[in-house]
Amino acid sequence: MINEPLSKELYDMICCPDDKGDLSYTKNKTGLQCNKCKFIFPIREGIPILLPKEMQEN
Ligand SMILES: [Zn+2]
Repeated sequence: MINEPLSKELYDMICCPDDKGDLSYTKNKTGLQCNKCKFIFPIREGIPILLPKEMQEN
């Protein structure tokens, strides 16, 4: 079993900034995918980068 990169508390608290959809870990747990819009938010050094899509163009 792979260690989860985020604490359960944080994982339960966060949601998609665009549509407030629930987020699930991607298969390799390097990101969080929205269950509604399927957008993948990266996790960097244990911190989920939950920026709206239009701010993640770089
Ligand atoms: Zn979403």
